[in-house]
Amino acid sequence: MKKVLAFDIDQTLNVAKTPITDEIASLLTKCLDHFEVCPISGQKFDQFLIQIVDRLPNPTTEQLSHLHLFVAQGTQYYRYQDNKWQQIYNYPLTDEQVQKISNTLEQAAKESGYWEEDKLQPGDEIIENRLSQVTFSALGQKASTDAKYAWDPDCKKREKIVARAKELSPEFDYEIGGTTSINAITPGMNKVFGMTHLLEELDVTKEDILYFGDMTQPGGNDYPVVQMGIDTITVRNHEDTAYALKGILGIL
Ligand SMILES: [Mg+2]
Repeated sequence: MKKVLAFDIDQTLNVAKTPITDEIASLLTKCLDHFEVCPISGQKFDQFLIQIVDRLPNPTTEQLSHLHLFVAQGTQYYRYQDNKWQQIYNYPLTDEQVQKISNTLEQAAKESGYWEEDKLQPGDEIIENRLSQVTFSALGQKASTDAKYAWDPDCKKREKIVARAKELSPEFDYEIGGTTSINAITPGMNKVFGMTHLLEELDVTKEDILYFGDMTQPGGNDYPVVQMGIDTITVRNHEDTAYALKGILGIL
């Protein structure tokens, strides 16, 4: 019997960068009665609140105590304690690292012909400092979901940018995630980092965890979890995840 259900967010619990559906919200809340629930994603803390926590239907303090937020690929960890979300740890990048990664991604995208600054909405940005990682979002954060889906469905554009970025600054790792994103990190600061800390913080073993992700193929941002030897369910979208959760909750 698994003790922990861990989830990628984008495309696993939601339509990338949008709040989870009522169905997923209800299923996750039920899961909190039986499992430790650990969303882990490259996104920032405020997006965990907007996309997941605020969508849960009237969770109790007891239920929230079983929700563990592994922000920025688990380089930041938040728990609900004393009636508020508290940061338990944080491993940020240095200012120099952020600057170098930002310059590298911009140059690589420009040289690849995929620097789409003209398509950005006002106030939006392509490169975002998420403290523990730097994220490239080809069309910015505010682009429509349709536009994001259409931009790079086969990941070929991002693979080209990543190949060039690796030549320019090989000391960093670059992972493809979501629909238009590339996450740049220092080596090891990927989901393995988050999952390793999860094991420690929750005092569980790899065998206790069941992980859900949509990018479990080599090069995808969920692949490091597969490589760790954690049991993984590959989903295409949140409908697949809902189907699997209903099965899990149904047999309890
Ligand atoms: Mg994903």
